[in-house]
This record gives sequence, C-alpha cells and structure tokens, in this order.
Amino acid sequence: MSNPAITDSETAPRVFDVTNAATGAVITSLTEMSPAEVDAKVALARTAFEGWSRETPKVRADALFALCAELRAHGDELIELEVLNTGRSRVAAAAELEHMVDSFSFYAGAARTLSTMAAGEYVRDHTSFIKLEPVGVCGQITPWNYPMMMAGLAIAPAIAAGNCSIIKPSEVTPLSTIRLVEIASRVLPENVMNVVIGSGRVTGDALVTHDDVDLVSLIGSRRAGEQIAGNAASTMKKLHLELGGKAPVVVFPGVDMPFLVSRLLEAGFNNAGQDCTAASRVILHRSIQDEFLRAMTDALRVLKVGGPDEDAAMGPLISAQHLEKVIGMIEGAKRDGAEIVHGGSRLDREGYFIEPTLISNVQQNAEIVQQEVFGPVLTVQAFDDEQEAIEMANGVQYDLAGSVWSGSPGQLFRVAGALNFGTVWMNDHFPQAIEVPHGGLRYSGHGKDQSTYSLDSYLRVKHLMINTAL
Ligand code: NAD
Repeated sequence: MSNPAITDSETAPRVFDVTNAATGAVITSLTEMSPAEVDAKVALARTAFEGWSRETPKVRADALFALCAELRAHGDELIELEVLNTGRSRVAAAAELEHMVDSFSFYAGAARTLSTMAAGEYVRDHTSFIKLEPVGVCGQITPWNYPMMMAGLAIAPAIAAGNCSIIKPSEVTPLSTIRLVEIASRVLPENVMNVVIGSGRVTGDALVTHDDVDLVSLIGSRRAGEQIAGNAASTMKKLHLELGGKAPVVVFPGVDMPFLVSRLLEAGFNNAGQDCTAASRVILHRSIQDEFLRAMTDALRVLKVGGPDEDAAMGPLISAQHLEKVIGMIEGAKRDGAEIVHGGSRLDREGYFIEPTLISNVQQNAEIVQQEVFGPVLTVQAFDDEQEAIEMANGVQYDLAGSVWSGSPGQLFRVAGALNFGTVWMNDHFPQAIEVPHGGLRYSGHGKDQSTYSLDSYLRVKHLMINTAL
C-alpha cells in the first residue's frame, strides 16, 4: 500500500527524538510506525466502525461528553506535556486544551442536528430521501503549531459523525496527542480513536495511500497538501485540506493606530507567529506608513520573549530546523533590499528563540512577501489607492485569511468582498470561535474546520428513491 516513490531503506524502522523547544533538550525517543503497523491500525478501525457508525447520535454525543469530562480531569497533565514539547506558556497551552474540549463538546451536539433537502416526489410515483452517512475510516494528519487544538478540530467532527479516526500527529510534537488517545480509550469504544506515530513520508503516506482509509484530512503546509493530493489520487479517497496562509492586513487612513498595533501584537506574534492565519503582510496607505512603523517598533521593543517560566509574551519557534528556515528567509529579504526595522536575529541562548521582526521596503514578488514564514515576522508595504491595495493583498498563492481596516463601513465591505480569502476580518484580525467556519480557498486548501460546515467533510450523501406505485 505504500507509495512506490518511497524506498525500502526509508521505510525501515526509525527512532527519532522529540525535543523541548524552549531548551533544545531531548524529551524522549519514539519509533516510527511502518506501513505494516499502520495497516494493522486501519484494520482495527474498520472493525470498530461497524459498531460506532450504527450508534445513535445521542449515544455518540454522550460518549463525547464523557471524553470532555475526562480531558478536563487530565487537564493539568495535558497542559504540562504541551508546554514541555512546544515551550509555550501555560496560559497558551491551557487555551489550547480549552479549545480542544470545546471542539468535542460542540460536535457532540452538532452531529445530532443534521439536516438535508426535503424528502419528496421529484419523479412521479417515486419518493426521494437523502441520508447522511459517515464516510468510514479517517486518516487525520496534524501539524506541530497547536498540537492539542488541531487534534480536536480534526477528530471531533469525524467521530461525532460516526467515523473512526486514526490520527498522525506531527513527529515534532506527538506527545499530547498520544496522551489524548490513551485518555479517549477509557471512554470511547475500542479503536474509535487511534494514533500512529512517525514522519509524513512514511507513516503519513501509509494512511494516504491505504485503500481502506476512506478520507484523509490534513492540517499542514501547502507542500504537504500537494503531495497528499497527488499520492491519494489512485485511491480516490475524500480529502479535507487545511493548508498554509500569508495573511494580509489592509489598512486605510483614519484607523485607530494604537488599537491596530495592539491587535497586530497578538495576530502577528501570538505563538511566535506560528499560526496559519497570523497577520503577516501589513499593506497600508502611504500616508500612514511612518506613523505605523514607529508605533509598531515601540510595541515590539517591549514584547518579552522567553520560555514558559519567564512570564514572556512570546515563546520559541518549534525546532532548530524551523529556526534556520525563518532566519534564512529574513537573510534572503535583506539580500532582496528590504530594511529590517526591528529584530531579525535569533536570541543568544538555549532553545529556538528569535526576535519579533518588522521588515519594510519589500517588493511584492520577494520571497518574504510571497512565501509563508510561519514565524514572528511582519512585512510592511505601502499603497496609494484602493485597487492597488486589493491587488497587493490578493497577489500571493495563499487564500486562507486576511483583514481590512477602515473608518468607512462601505469601504470595509467593498474591500472585504474583493479579497480572496476564506476568512476576512473587518477592523480586527484573529478572533475565532468553534461555531464559525475556518478554512482556505484554492491554494490554502478545501473543506472547512470548525462550525457545522466541517461535518460536511465527514459525511457522505446517499440518495434513496422508492417506487410508490407498487
Ligand atoms: P507540514 O506540512 O510539514 O506537516 C503537517 C503534517 O503533515 C505532519 O504531521 C507531517 O508529518 C505530515 N506530512 C507531511 N508531508 C506528508 C506527506 N507527503 N504525506 C503524509 N503526511 C505528510 O506542516 P507543519 O510544518 O507541521 O505545520 C505548519 C503548516 O501547517 C503551515 O503551513 C501552516 O500554515 C499549516 N497550518 C494550517 C492550518 C489551517 O487550518 N489551514 C492550521 C495550522 C497549521
């Protein structure tokens, strides 16, 4: 079942280290699961699906509410695991836990309220009914930026709808997901939720190419999305892809500058910018560029960077490899003629810390504007008129999220309508809630996370028609 492009040596058992991002220390070593081990998990999930898919929505909801209670009871332990692995603050890890529990709680109820088109006689003497059925076994591949939160967003709608889930967390941050699945096994029927551990190329690909996996969801990079879409093609499985972003922040004159800067401190630098919707490209009217650069620089000067025990506002990047990538992109921007207004360097200490960074004088076609940095880096571009602002904002191959800021309601709606992004905030950037959809258009993937729209991915539509003349 594995991808023919992957050789035997690459599929041999491999031991890999899991590290603490705040110190660089190795926490533990894990062994990558082979395609044969993934195959065994798929067989278990297929068996579990026979029972779970036939339960009523109420029975499934009760089980998910029991899971919520169990997760809260193990909350401190899950938070500490997340802090240990990602180096983020306890407050941030607690917010992730809350979001994950909220996902299970929301979909427990939402899956009891499914609706479809009306049953009726669309052909004379024949009555049509629509049935929404679970898809089957779901392979769910998640990234490292919010391990618990992403696990909840992926698994909750899948199992609430009657599917079985096999999650493959990022090999960089697997610990809280492994514990989540252990906890879930106490309250859910066996193998409704399962986990496989390893890299994308081996363990992830074994799910993607498996003939008995009916759906693959990915929250990850555009590169992984492209690979998975290609590798899944021969099995024609359903895909749900939540990919990268490069969010613009389009600002017109007359906005409340202190409020804008305070919101960008969160939207651009929360989780060290490792967020798919992170504010990343500030595109503002030339008349307010200098005022913005001064105010943003002042705010970044006092943004405290540090580990979970240092009362810091911004934590580390996730790994040495990612730190190298972010620094490399900043160096590339300098070579392209950009000006580093603030930051730009790694911190001289253990762990993977970098300064919050503000960059001006960037060209639209520069790598720092076109490619996802996934770090605490804001670029600044100036425009002279509304049309130019819209073209700059839309001029990247990412379509996930963006924002527009203006004192004019008409301009807010006009520009928001012209922006090609799955979410457009007006006079804010970043707020999310489980009830509202989150997901990209075209290059940032398809399918929505959050909201009842997410359930659509995890259900299949079946038309039943009866001849009523007989
Ligand atoms: P990544 O794409 O490198 O990895 C994500 C997951 O995919 C990992 O579990 C990885 O092992 C797996 N993977 C990679 N290649 C694979 C393949 N060919 N087959 C099967 N599995 C494969 O992403 P990352 O670096 O872990 O996370 C950061 C990325 O995730 C960013 O691009 C970010 O924008 C994106 N992201 C998107 C959303 C969203 O909702 N749209 C949310 C969070 C993160």
